Amino acid sequence: MKISLVVPCYNEEDVIYDFYKEVRKAFENKVESYELVFVNDGSKDKTIDILKAIHKVSDNVKVVNFSRNFGKEAAMYAGLQQATGEYTCVIDADLQQRPEVVLRMMDILDNDAEVDCVAAYQEERKEGKVLTFFKDSFYKLMNSISEVEFRKGASDFRLMRRPMVNAVINMTEYHRFSKGLFSFVGFNTQYIPYEVQERAAGESKWSFAKLFIYAVEGIVGYTTAPLKVASFAGIGLMSAAFLYMIIALIVGAVTANITAAIAIITLILFMSGVQLLFIGIIGEYLARTYMQGKNRPVYIAKEILTYEEEKEEE
Ligand code: UDP
Ligand code: MG
Repeated sequence: MKISLVVPCYNEEDVIYDFYKEVRKAFENKVESYELVFVNDGSKDKTIDILKAIHKVSDNVKVVNFSRNFGKEAAMYAGLQQATGEYTCVIDADLQQRPEVVLRMMDILDNDAEVDCVAAYQEERKEGKVLTFFKDSFYKLMNSISEVEFRKGASDFRLMRRPMVNAVINMTEYHRFSKGLFSFVGFNTQYIPYEVQERAAGESKWSFAKLFIYAVEGIVGYTTAPLKVASFAGIGLMSAAFLYMIIALIVGAVTANITAAIAIITLILFMSGVQLLFIGIIGEYLARTYMQGKNRPVYIAKEILTYEEEKEEE
């Protein structure tokens, strides 16, 4: 098997069949052999029915059907586990990422043995200015405080050689943040620009809140710097309080002065806020240790449909 395409699907009934057709059109006669690994991530629409219909009429389609929605990260993980290709690509179901780009990626891997992974990044982002600002700030922050490197505009859309895929599969952590995982495992990645298409149909599953939680996942998952910030902030604020006390003693008769009273209340509120914030940050780390300690599976599959070839072997 030359190429495996891993396709996470959540409520994609409007595009999934078109996606399948487009891949066939693009890959026909260009790729010697390929397979499609669809992961139905607990869709509430007819996605699974369409996937099963596709599976029935094809000899190169696998379908992993989750018992509920586990998120795109879990879906990618399950797909990578099922993929058997020499090269494996993670690609969205909504045709925002064109199958033709995978051929460009394949060319690079075929012609340069030094490259282990070709990742596509968006040259131009078709998003609002506010979202772009937050995303840019996130990358800047991440790259300055964590050891792994994050490429701006890069998505999960990438073609990897088998050793890299195996390395990613071997990262069994519960809280998955694949941008970090891909970077953490190392290997030689080449970036190529690509143009993101408009979604063919259906709607994006990412709200601002979801992206924010995802960003926190990235930070907490790949650096413990915020914990150190807590200590530094604590020392800084203690010194400030001490200074304030000395000034108050020198100026004298603090409580008699209303402005001073307001200042003290402000200080108390501020300090409580800072403390709660850092307890929250510690909580984030603790929660992850707790969840990992439970050793829960990343996903639960109701059924896994493999293709004929394998079924016969069994
Ligand atoms: N997806 C998924 N599980 C989820 C959310 C999304 O498998 O909980 C899939 C979705 O079907 C699509 C891909 O992840 O194939 C990217 O999602 P989407 O297009 O909503 O994200 P965007 O392109 O807006 O970043
Ligand atoms: Mg999309």
